[in-house]
Parts: sequence; C-alpha cells; structure tokens
Amino acid sequence: MNLVKYVLFISITLSFTKQNLYSKTKEVKIKFVYSPYADFLYFLFYHNQRWFNLDSIIPVDSLPTIQSLLTFPEMVALKNIKDYKELYKLLEIYKNATNKIVVFKPKPILLKHDSLPVSYDTLRILIKKGEKYFPTFKKYWKQNIKPLEEKLIDKWKKELDSCHVIKKLQELTRLKFSFDTIYVGCIALHFSGSAYFYPPAIYSTIFNKEANSPDLGLLIGHESTHLLINEYVGKNWKKHPLAEKAISLVIKNGGKEYYIEEALCLFMQVKLSQECNFMRQNIKMSDYLKDPILKKLCKGFEKNWENYKKYPDKYPTIIDFMLKTAIQIFSKNYSSYIGIRRYKYSSSDSSPAGSIFTGAVVP
Ligand SMILES: [Zn+2]
Repeated sequence: MNLVKYVLFISITLSFTKQNLYSKTKEVKIKFVYSPYADFLYFLFYHNQRWFNLDSIIPVDSLPTIQSLLTFPEMVALKNIKDYKELYKLLEIYKNATNKIVVFKPKPILLKHDSLPVSYDTLRILIKKGEKYFPTFKKYWKQNIKPLEEKLIDKWKKELDSCHVIKKLQELTRLKFSFDTIYVGCIALHFSGSAYFYPPAIYSTIFNKEANSPDLGLLIGHESTHLLINEYVGKNWKKHPLAEKAISLVIKNGGKEYYIEEALCLFMQVKLSQECNFMRQNIKMSDYLKDPILKKLCKGFEKNWENYKKYPDKYPTIIDFMLKTAIQIFSKNYSSYIGIRRYKYSSSDSSPAGSIFTGAVVP
C-alpha cells in the first residue's frame, strides 16, 4: 500500500480521533448468566452430556432427540426461572412457528440456528417427559456442573478486568453495538458457542472438564462480531455497496454468501484475544481452517490487518475491510495465484484445535 506521507499523517490523526470517540462511547455492560434449565435442555433435546455421566442417573435413551439446533436453552438461560412449569409458557413462542426468526417489534427473536423443521408438539411432549427427571438433574447439576460454570465465569471476570473485550472489539471494528448490555452465558452442556439476537447474548460451553481454559477474547471476538455486522441487530454488511460484488465472487469460487461473515468472525476471535494479550501473537486462525475458501478469506484478513489499522480512511469500518479484502482475494487477477478448489463447508472448520478455539458450531 503506497500512500504518501500526508495521507499517513491524516490516517494517524483519524485513528487517534476515532479512539477518542470510542473511549467516549457509552460502555456496554456484560452480565454473566447460567442456568440448570439451560443445561438440562441441552441434555434433554440432544442427549449431550459432555464430561458428565448423566445417562447413568437419568435414563433418556428411550426419549427422542431434536434434529434442529434450537435457541430455546439460550432463551431460557436469560430468564430467572423458578419453576419447571415456566418452560411450557416460554415454549409457546414455537407454536406455529415455521421460520428461524420470529419478528416481534422492535427486535427479532431467534428460534433456532438452522433451517430444519421443528415440531412444537414434539417439543412439548419431550419437555413434559423430562419433567420427572429434572429434580435428579438439578441435584447433580448443583454438585458437579454449577461449580465449574461459576469457576469459568470468575475467570472471565478476571479477564474482563485486564481487558474490556467489548470496548476493545468496538475500537477494533470501528463499529458500535446498538445495545448497552450484553449477556454472556455459561452452559456447560452447550455444543460449543452461539449468539442470541435479543436480548443480545453469547453462550459458551466450559470446553474442558476442569473449566480452566477461559478466553473471553475468543468467545466475544467471534460471536459479538456476528452481532455487530449481521442483518438483524447489527450494521447490515449486506447493504454495503461492495457486498454484492464480494458475495458473487465468493460464490463463483465455490463458497457461500455467509462464508464472508463467518470467516471474519473466525479471524476476529483470534485477533481480539491477541489484542487483549490473552493469546500468543504468532497464532493464525487460518492455520486451523480446512475449507479452502474460509482459509483464503482468513489469510487475506491476516495479511491485510495492519493496513486496516493504519488506514481508517480507506477502511472506515471492519465491513469495508472484510469486503475489500474478499474482493481483492477473489478478483480475476488473484484466482490463478491462489489456486481455487471447491469444497463443501465443514462445520468442523468452526471449532478447530480443540479447546484452544471456541469458534462456534453455529455460524
Ligand atoms: Zn460464526
């Protein structure tokens, strides 16, 4: 990037001004949550028991599992539920719901992370059948799972004291959250991590049976970047003038539209963690990706990152950075150099390297 000195000076000045601007931004509060009901639903719906021998005390084998990855456990974690019966009332939102998102003014409610059909009647029956097991589960949860969730949340709080990840993410992306509180939930029996639109919330499993591997940078870097740029609660990147060109180039080269956003979130999970000094600087997210399109996008972000930081006039926000980099990678002059191959996106790309990367099962 050959820019003359005065442009460089202006860039630095702009960068300084922006930092001041963001430091004046109203601080987004983080509230930590956890819930035996959320964990129980992951067990009941998917028989997911992670490091806990739950099936030895609760015989769920005869019960069906749910195909669709629902946000119901996440929704429940945000409510201060006192009685199992409250689940039935909350479940009503799934009645006659055919879409992934139910729009209630003023904010969208996300019902599931995929497009698979889900039967309200099946859910209700399953929750009904699970009711008799909940007291046993809760007792086990209090003794074995709750202490681990509290331990991880304590570690997250300590990280937050050393680096306010939300403030840092806003500085790095040059974007502001449209809300003033974000919930961060620990659900030990979660598959990996996920974001919930409204109230804005981010969830994570404990990642190992000791719950001793915190990295709020990874978690917030991935899921909150989705919240910052997605079409529902963020600054919709698909409305950017360059979006159409970037999307068509990625599709033409064997990728899918959402790869662009997902690759950025994968990149940002490592970048935020590194900017907060939670992670070693020499780790590159692209080394952990198998899908060639995601890998190329991520490599492009890694290569272009210092330019982005230096030149806010060229890249006013992370969305400009994402789209310009994607276009640069997949434009004609580049395609022979990068040797494009076509692969299907694999969900394993989202959670590479075991416990080091939180990633997200859900894009
Ligand atoms: Zn994602």
